[in-house]
Amino acid sequence: MQQPFLKAVPILEMIEEKGFEAYFVGGSVRDFLLGREIADVDIATSALPGELKTIFPHTADIGIQHGTILVIFNGTPYEITTFRTESGYTDYRRPDTVEFVRSLTEDLQRRDFTMNAIAMDKAGRLIDPFHGQSAISKKEIVTVGPPEERFGEDALRIMRAVRFVGQLGFVIEPGTLAAISKLAPLLDNIAVERKLAEFEKLISGTYRSEALALMGETGISNWLPGLDGQESKLLKLAGCRLGHLSTEEMWVLLTHVLELDVKTAEPFLRKWKLPGKKIRVCLKVLHWLHYRLNNSWTPQMAYLSGKANMLSAEKVYNTLSGSGPAPMEDLEEMFEQLPIKERAELSVAGKDLIEWFGKGPGPWIKDVLNETEEAVVAGRIANKKADIREWLVQCKQNLGKD
Ligand code: ATP
Ligand code: MG
Repeated sequence: MQQPFLKAVPILEMIEEKGFEAYFVGGSVRDFLLGREIADVDIATSALPGELKTIFPHTADIGIQHGTILVIFNGTPYEITTFRTESGYTDYRRPDTVEFVRSLTEDLQRRDFTMNAIAMDKAGRLIDPFHGQSAISKKEIVTVGPPEERFGEDALRIMRAVRFVGQLGFVIEPGTLAAISKLAPLLDNIAVERKLAEFEKLISGTYRSEALALMGETGISNWLPGLDGQESKLLKLAGCRLGHLSTEEMWVLLTHVLELDVKTAEPFLRKWKLPGKKIRVCLKVLHWLHYRLNNSWTPQMAYLSGKANMLSAEKVYNTLSGSGPAPMEDLEEMFEQLPIKERAELSVAGKDLIEWFGKGPGPWIKDVLNETEEAVVAGRIANKKADIREWLVQCKQNLGKD
């Protein structure tokens, strides 16, 4: 057993000591069987939330109505969920009622895919009533039970299936895939926030090309913000060498492939409910990508874009031009050679200009600072107060006069 499980074994033991059952479940067991790194260990138990609270002194109610509480054990938080069944999915998302049950098998049965419905006990023994291990060895995504029924209960599972393709490189079993194509319109009922969480995992995954192609082929993309009718562009994106791109760079590439400019990309990214900060970064990189599509980098442009934006734009540019990952040392060197890296490093400020020219504040300050900044970046003057003053006094003689 791997370290994250070993650290949590005492939790299972403490629950069992009180006469309840407890197991590791979900993504951690799947990833362990795949030899992948384990993010967080989820635990399922026959104990009710109230019963867990009598066992563990440090808990937080994070989803107690669905039977999940957070237990802080040796400083690490663990999500522990009471065995439950779900019923009454009247709106194709989230169950109307959850019912706590005392049977592990019933709990595993409500889970989405067989690979996610395996439990492991404290000794590492697997409980696998739906043959998840066989699916994992075949690299197959299969619903637990009839696929149409399961996607009809919660359409987010449709997105989850393709994001697992993107993360794990699995294929979707034919019956499950047919149900996805048929029921993709149900995604219309799913909140954008939940779609976004799955989509970002998809575009960050090693096998994102396959998943993006599948989104187009199954028609899933028609039910995602701003992607209706864009299958052919998604297929184009899927055909790019995406290996080295970050999630933000993927968003930039996506907006570009969709033929959006900085103005039209903003409402697209807002529709997806991306955080404002991320949108700002993406728009900046998109702006510099557009610059790069027609020009080469110069020190001035490297300075104006900033190192991170320049490198990201270059990576996306390389992807578009088909070269895939390319060395960035030359560009990094260009940036390192700049006399200043940002405005704050300029050794003069507005108050110096006011003093030197004996003129009150006004828009002239911004103009002179911009010119000075440009001259320093271009290496025409040194970034030293005295040098800049001398230079300015010489070339701006008329400033002090009016
Ligand atoms: P990840 O590694 O990305 O966390 P995961 O499989 O652990 O993947 P979670 O969202 O953390 O995904 O969910 C934990 C487990 O809960 C899943 O493995 C699955 O058993 C179950 N589950 C999650 N979402 C659903 C859903 N929409 N329908 C049915 N079961 C679900
Ligand atoms: Mg998980």
